Amino acid sequence: MTPLKSLSILLSILASCLPGCEATRPSGHGPVPWSVIGTSREGRSIEAVTLGAGSPRVLVVGGIHGNEPEHVPAVAALLDRGLHPRPRATIRLIRDINPDGGAAGTRGNATGVDINRNWPASNFQPAATHGPEPMSEPETAILHAQIMAFKPDLLVVLHSIASGPFVNHDGPAEHPARAFAEAASTTDPRWHVRPSMGYATPGSLGTWAGVDRHIPTLTVEFDRGHDPRLAGVAFVDGLAAAIKAWRSEQAASAIRPGR
Ligand SMILES: [Zn+2]
Repeated sequence: MTPLKSLSILLSILASCLPGCEATRPSGHGPVPWSVIGTSREGRSIEAVTLGAGSPRVLVVGGIHGNEPEHVPAVAALLDRGLHPRPRATIRLIRDINPDGGAAGTRGNATGVDINRNWPASNFQPAATHGPEPMSEPETAILHAQIMAFKPDLLVVLHSIASGPFVNHDGPAEHPARAFAEAASTTDPRWHVRPSMGYATPGSLGTWAGVDRHIPTLTVEFDRGHDPRLAGVAFVDGLAAAIKAWRSEQAASAIRPGR
């Protein structure tokens, strides 16, 4: 599918608003009703919105590293264009979990702690950039509370890296990761799955959620400086495909004998 065609069909977002849905926002239909879910170390609001209804429950997290702004067009594309084909899903979207880092253009938060190393994972290591203890930072605690309350079936965390774009996964997320990369590659053929980041990630969200708690977790790595339009289209196509793959896997395991 060409990017132009993909854009042309991504015209609506989760148009069916069933009970329990906070927001449905077809393109151009007013402001997003963000809810403030907490405040950062420097007092900036951290906001979220829930879209759609039904399973799976998908939590999308933007901005965990403040020097990786590529989540902005991805979040905008999700809100403006929606997913196609429109899957049944409840999508909880956290716009920017590290607004202090975003404002300063730094990886970490206002105290220099990496919000992706500050989790009570089995491999947490205290350090200046990891925090003295897990969840020492308000941003980590806010996201932790969101995960515990929302109970996502699929966790999608937005990043960027010079060697992107690719999808890394933790926990039982191989099939959604493959589906994401395959769908995103129709917009940009460089998208692929990278099972390992190739370096240690102690105390990471992926380790805590995916490895320790078995929540399927996708780490979406746009390439640094990703063309915003391509990033948005690749993301919404990839997310729709990952949701479909999750659903197919659930259906297959439900009919598998001996389970
Ligand atoms: Zn990152």
